[in-house]
Amino acid sequence: IVTLNSVCKGFNDGDKHHQVLDNTNLQLAPAETVALTGPSGCGKSTLLNIIGGFEFIDSGNLSLFGNNTADWHDSQWSQYRRSNLGVVFQQFNLLTPLNVKDNIAFSLRLSQQHWSPWCDHLIDLLGLSAVKNRHIEALSGGQQQRVAIARALAHKPQLLLADEPTGNLDENAGRDVMTLLTELAKESQTSILMVTHSAECAAFMQRRWHLEQGHIHE
Ligand code: ATP
Ligand code: MG
Repeated sequence: IVTLNSVCKGFNDGDKHHQVLDNTNLQLAPAETVALTGPSGCGKSTLLNIIGGFEFIDSGNLSLFGNNTADWHDSQWSQYRRSNLGVVFQQFNLLTPLNVKDNIAFSLRLSQQHWSPWCDHLIDLLGLSAVKNRHIEALSGGQQQRVAIARALAHKPQLLLADEPTGNLDENAGRDVMTLLTELAKESQTSILMVTHSAECAAFMQRRWHLEQGHIHE
């Protein structure tokens, strides 16, 4: 589903160049679940942003669902995001003036899909039923995180990119979310690439990739 071949990505910081990915290779298969670990600043979010098409690579090759993305235009990127991709961002990126249901409904509309019983089920599974009509700004950090997860899963994506999806949850809620994600991967054949600092959460995933100095070690 995702293939990186010799991918390089760096940022210029004043007169210094910081190489984040350095001839990085990886391959993620359908229904495969991977925990991505590594020290702060090593490039975990950058890697997720590249796979989501929110950042572009400097060189190398990125293939998604068997297609080389080198010549993709905006329309191909948005088609891919709409139909195949779910993202839980590190900072949630929720629409704070809207309520829980409207956040989910809004992203469904972007995916050109409608509210389904699955959406109500998700709200229930994530323990959000009691707050579904509340505005995002009136929710706790952990509740907002669960809304971000519900929103990412509402259109049943084939690929889920999640940046520390349990970072704001207590142990029990974190375990519930991990159980939900692994069941989903099994049932819907969803591939998951999830950044986590928690060894307990990483243990729910089939594989573990450690990113350090631009290289991935399994
Ligand atoms: P954390 O665990 O703290 O979230 P991370 O592994 O997700 O860290 P990234 O956010 O991917 O790290 O950042 C990797 C490096 O790239 C950092 O040194 C960061 O400062 C730099 N970086 C990321 N985005 C940009 C940008 N848009 N412009 C300049 N530098 C950037
Ligand atoms: Mg990060």
